[in-house]
Amino acid sequence: MKQAMAVITTPVARMLQRLRAPSSKRVLVHEILWIQILSASIVGAFAIGALYWGGQWVLQDNYSRWALQWTEELNELGSPLYLSDDSEALLRLESFVKKYPEIGRVAYFRPDGTPLFSIDGDAELGPLTRLPESRLEDAKALVGNDQPYVLQSSIVSPRQFEILAPVWTESLADDGLFAFDPAVALTESKTELIGFVGMHLDFILFHDRLLANIKVAILILLVLLFAFALYGRRALRRALASISDLQDPIQELARGNLKVKFEPAEHREISDIVEALETTASALSERDAMLMELANHDNLTGLFNRRRFMEELNVELANIAVHEHSSALFFIDLDQFKYVNDTCGHHAGDRLIRKVADELLRSVSDEDIVARFGGDEFVILHCSTDKESAREMAEDILANMRRLAHVEDERVFHIHCSIGVTMINRAKANPDEIIAEADIACREAKSAGRNRMQFFEKSSHIVERATSDVGWMNRLRNAVDGDRFELRFQPINRIDSGATRYHEVLLRLRGDDGKLLSPDAFLPSAVRFGLMSEIDLWAIRHSAEAYAEYVEESPELRLSINLSANAFESDNLSDFVATVFEEYGVPANRIIFEITESLAVRRPRHVELQIDALREMGSKLALDDFGTGYSSFSYLQKLHFDFIKIDGSFVHDILNNPVDQKMIKLIAEVGREANMQTVAEYVQDAASLELLGELGVDLAQGFFVGRPTRRPLYKTTPISLSSRRNRRSWQH
Ligand code: GH3
Ligand code: MG
Repeated sequence: MKQAMAVITTPVARMLQRLRAPSSKRVLVHEILWIQILSASIVGAFAIGALYWGGQWVLQDNYSRWALQWTEELNELGSPLYLSDDSEALLRLESFVKKYPEIGRVAYFRPDGTPLFSIDGDAELGPLTRLPESRLEDAKALVGNDQPYVLQSSIVSPRQFEILAPVWTESLADDGLFAFDPAVALTESKTELIGFVGMHLDFILFHDRLLANIKVAILILLVLLFAFALYGRRALRRALASISDLQDPIQELARGNLKVKFEPAEHREISDIVEALETTASALSERDAMLMELANHDNLTGLFNRRRFMEELNVELANIAVHEHSSALFFIDLDQFKYVNDTCGHHAGDRLIRKVADELLRSVSDEDIVARFGGDEFVILHCSTDKESAREMAEDILANMRRLAHVEDERVFHIHCSIGVTMINRAKANPDEIIAEADIACREAKSAGRNRMQFFEKSSHIVERATSDVGWMNRLRNAVDGDRFELRFQPINRIDSGATRYHEVLLRLRGDDGKLLSPDAFLPSAVRFGLMSEIDLWAIRHSAEAYAEYVEESPELRLSINLSANAFESDNLSDFVATVFEEYGVPANRIIFEITESLAVRRPRHVELQIDALREMGSKLALDDFGTGYSSFSYLQKLHFDFIKIDGSFVHDILNNPVDQKMIKLIAEVGREANMQTVAEYVQDAASLELLGELGVDLAQGFFVGRPTRRPLYKTTPISLSSRRNRRSWQH
């Protein structure tokens, strides 16, 4: 989970690192400002350049207008001076020159270019010289043209101009006053060059003024830029402040606080970021919750998983260390659960596991912790309890499970479980050991017949057996391969007449020490190590062999052979039986096959087919251990058995237990109705036998009737007269 958090927070942490960037990093505000100032400066420079160029252009335009106007005026003002010494004209000329400070000098020349006179303005100009010939020619060419002057700009200063214009007069060809014809006057007018007027113009003043203005404009622009930079910086800072404000909530997010609140932002862009962050936070919190769920829960049942349970167990161990109370750990494994999967498929199995989980939750209190450990295993931690309460709770769970019926494909399943319980106290500190203890106890409950509870006892043989499992596997393997099993035959006698009806074939294993071991000692290991089906087949073959051997001396010989669920694992069980029977000449109708109630009730399809095949051969069927597991009378009729063997647990205390008596009576009645003979196991004394007879049971098996022997013996049961009398009266 920690790892998962690290994965979640990494992008956030990276974002945070970026926010916490050292001061040497570029500042966004400054960068934006610089870009704006630079672009404003470039635009400003272009604007000022355009202003300067435009100003120049306007000035030039004005210069040429003024030059034209002044040339014309000077032409007019100066022409009288060529003809006479007109002092008034000279005065007018002087005042004209004074009026325009741009005019540095006005000079008049004779037609040959020699200076006539000049009027100087404020400018310091050199002595007046004769006009060069080339200029004279140019100026002469202008006489009578629209272009009134020749302009020459100064090489030294481009704002200084020299203007030279011809001074000429125009007279009409015919001066007659009376016959004035304007058309003739136009065509026949006569121009006469009387000299030249030169002007020195200096517009530097205007230019300087333009430059001064532009400087002011630049200054104003700079001031504006500065003011803009200051304002822009503040405005940008304010706008970007909402991004900086995100730093704290993001930091919180990075620390894993997914409930962090983001302040709403004013600006759309930042609001979008805030929204994105909020979405991220809620996605992270959803993912977090999902990971938590996955990390702690089993996804089929929703119960705590093994990891979370171990955490809870550790917490409880710490509690126990402080408060010194004791608690109980239950290890629950469903009985024969594989058959549900085999019969109806995994999905049906899953549905049943869920149902069992719900049932377990209902069976415990809120303080107890229920978890699925895997497969069909569950564990319960029952806190602050003692052994007696733990036992009661385990019994309650067993009772509740017995009541649980699961319908699948029109079949009704009753699921049972085996429970191993270990008490936890201060002396125990290792959670794995505690689980192992409960597991061992659960296995013990399984081998004791399933559908029961078992406390873990250190001193019991469970531990030794668990450790000697491997040894068992080798021994069983050798026994199968080396024919080291032996058969024993126990009679099953009629209660009414005491005559032997048939013999049950029992399996024994000759141990290394030469002693015989009963199936209870080795069958659980055989099942665990997958040797059971081989042992079953061994038993069938050797029973057939025994039949062939003993039938000569006992022509009435009938044998019943136990078949475990594993015997049906191979699909050709009936073929095997048929072959073996043929080999030893065994009539199938002399053989009874005993199968357990749990297998009979749940029988998967392939088991059903094999049972039908055995029936068709003529063999009979006995339902073993009736009453232990799936005691449902409604099944009896459906199953078509020939014998019902009432489990020994109902029989051994029958004299003192009225409930058992009622139960047996009921089974006997139902059996009779369904045309099945009932067999009571575990009959140990005459009184029990008598009572069983009274209750309507047909057959009896047990030490009182006959112990298992090497060969089938026929010994009539000693039965009291009173019993016979009773029985007779009961029958009437
Ligand atoms: P036993 O009485 O000895 O416990 O017999 P069992 O048939 O219950 O066998 P066991 O407990 O050894 O095996 C449990 C079986 O549960 C094995 C497997 O086929 C089945 N199983 C395990 N996990 C799942 C699951 O998630 N869904 C389903 N449907 N079946 C599961
Ligand atoms: Mg199981």
